[in-house]
Amino acid sequence: MSATLPLLNEPTSPPAAPLPGILDVPAEGLRAWLAERRQPPMRVNQIRRQILANRAESFEAMSDLPKDLRADLAASFSVFSTRVERHLFAQSDDTHKLVLRLADDRMIECVLIQDDGRATACVSTQVGCGMGCVFCASGLNGVVRNLTVGEIVEQLVRLRNLTDPTTTNPDRAPRLTHIVVMGMGEPLANLDRLLEALAIAGDKNGLCIGQRHVTISTVGLPAKIRQLAEAGKQYHLAVSLHAPNDALRTQIVPTNDKTGIPAILDAADDFYARTGRQVTYEYVVLGGLNDGPTHAKELARLLSGRKAHVNLIPWNDVDGLPYRRPVEGNLQGFVDTLRHSGVSVKVRKRKGTEIDAACGQLRRKVEQEAAAGREPAPAAATAPPDPVPAAAAP
Ligand code: SAH
Repeated sequence: MSATLPLLNEPTSPPAAPLPGILDVPAEGLRAWLAERRQPPMRVNQIRRQILANRAESFEAMSDLPKDLRADLAASFSVFSTRVERHLFAQSDDTHKLVLRLADDRMIECVLIQDDGRATACVSTQVGCGMGCVFCASGLNGVVRNLTVGEIVEQLVRLRNLTDPTTTNPDRAPRLTHIVVMGMGEPLANLDRLLEALAIAGDKNGLCIGQRHVTISTVGLPAKIRQLAEAGKQYHLAVSLHAPNDALRTQIVPTNDKTGIPAILDAADDFYARTGRQVTYEYVVLGGLNDGPTHAKELARLLSGRKAHVNLIPWNDVDGLPYRRPVEGNLQGFVDTLRHSGVSVKVRKRKGTEIDAACGQLRRKVEQEAAAGREPAPAAATAPPDPVPAAAAP
């Protein structure tokens, strides 16, 4: 069909804009909207509780609201502003991965990890990422925008709705218990909205997730680490270090050029002094690049005087990137060196190995398919599709 010839049935008006997601409507605005319909302000909390605590996915399902109001709400707002574009499920350990399409057609990823009686949501804070870490899929095309508070909360709600409230399996939780802010984006570059979203997540009448069950992972933005410390919360801080000296770190984490390890460690020390929360240092282990015995010794020297914990993350393959996973012997040597120096260390377990494309990679795949005009596989919000064999996730 020629692009220059108008279609006979060309719409006379542009397609209707998607309805605003209700989680992004400020309480004030919603109260005013309700007042116009002679509804009391307490309906705001009722609506929120329905979504955050009762798992309502439509206004129709909000049975404690008058029928007319439910219809009115449905005509003006949507419960979710995002759509499930892809839903992958790993049968081996009940890991779920969602690619969500946002109202502006951008895509983000989030993951539900379930083990040891915990259900952990790994959420994104930005579309893309501006930090440019050389081994990471999320930042390959830079950052597009910060997510809204509602978009962050929606990831939590959608993942929580995948937990089984009736489970009797001691290895599974009937609700969300933990949050790790380790999806796409740099959380501290969207700190104000993240803090708002986490406050909602902590609400006793909602998702009810305690501050100590929340981990925020950052590339290391010193001023923002201090701002987070001053927020007076008990969130756990994880700093992505990835190298024991500035020359190597700048090679792996380009933003280090302007920051430098000492300023990051200072800010992290302040965070610990202020909050009493021990800081975790993440270290993506890249075979042949930062996994040698000298790196381990240097890292041990850097951290041994500090109250710190190290999380070693063997690199998860990203298509097209020239890095490799460490060989087992090197990894064990690295662990031993840190332990002998009194540094607490753990190697991150892999989850959902059938589906665990490194964070940001699945979104790229879905976007590339869309750009090539291929119809993406249908979303399976209720019945997860067969596990898709793929690479690995952080
Ligand atoms: N911007 C934040 C959050 C990033 S995701 C940060 O830099 O911390 C959380 C962790 O996963 C970070 O330590 C990040 O460096 C790491 N990561 C990203 N891609 C990875 C990959 N392909 N393999 C292993 N870890 C990865």
